[in-house]
Amino acid sequence: MHRHPPVSDTASAAVVVEDLHKRFGELEVLKGVSLTAREGDVITLIGSSGSGKSTLLRCINMLEIPDEGRIVIGGEAIGLKKARGGRVTVPADTRQVERIRTKLGMVFQSFNLWTHMTILQNVIEAPIHVLGVPRLEAVERARMLLDKVGILAKADSYPVQLSGGQQQRAAIARALAMQPKVMLFDEPTSALDPELVGEVLRVIRQLADEGNTMILVTHEMGFAREVASKVVFLHQGRIEEEGAPDKVLTNPDSDRVRQFLSRHL
Ligand code: ADP
Ligand code: MG
Repeated sequence: MHRHPPVSDTASAAVVVEDLHKRFGELEVLKGVSLTAREGDVITLIGSSGSGKSTLLRCINMLEIPDEGRIVIGGEAIGLKKARGGRVTVPADTRQVERIRTKLGMVFQSFNLWTHMTILQNVIEAPIHVLGVPRLEAVERARMLLDKVGILAKADSYPVQLSGGQQQRAAIARALAMQPKVMLFDEPTSALDPELVGEVLRVIRQLADEGNTMILVTHEMGFAREVASKVVFLHQGRIEEEGAPDKVLTNPDSDRVRQFLSRHL
């Protein structure tokens, strides 16, 4: 069976998260999470519902602002400062956040395509308007990416005309169009009918094989084991166990991981 090749210890860090804390009101959802994705790493984040997986991804992408801790993307630390009497943390420089966010491609459970645009328009929108790529070049690249994910024939269709699996592949093409340094996937197949899961996993596997750096939340344990260079298990906002997929998913040290696996394998 295919396995992710080991990533060299000297590969440079694409994402570094240090001692991240995030609260929603009284609820502390992340309680000091530290994580490094080296270039070429495929990290799968697993854990029960409510353990903080989405919040961690959303903090890495600055869709949520952490209360404490450090996030470094491609060697650049995201500047945060205290506002409103020191109670609220905000970005020190919103332009920095916008710039760094373009380096992160995010794919959500619910596709989030723009429904009033064709598939092609969905894919070219941000490259043209955020990166300033010339339209013809953006279209050419978009068609290449739609071909790569197997839906070039749907370029001029609207999202509603596509199956869930096709929509999710379009969302992946849209994220790739920004040429991100890191791809973040939050349960990309959870909203799909079972027969459509495979076509999306195949595209993600191909991206992993091509050496893309990815952080992936998934409940597909077999897939996690195949594509991951590292598996991280979150429990109530803390990393309970992390390591090589063959270790964590086969012979974990933690009883909690063991119990989780017995429910999900
Ligand atoms: P997971 O993705 O592992 O299921 P989440 O990160 O979505 O977990 O959520 C972790 C906890 O944080 C849950 O208890 C959830 O209800 C809570 N939470 C997430 N987002 C918010 C929010 N915007 N406001 C309040 N609570 C939230
Ligand atoms: Mg989630």
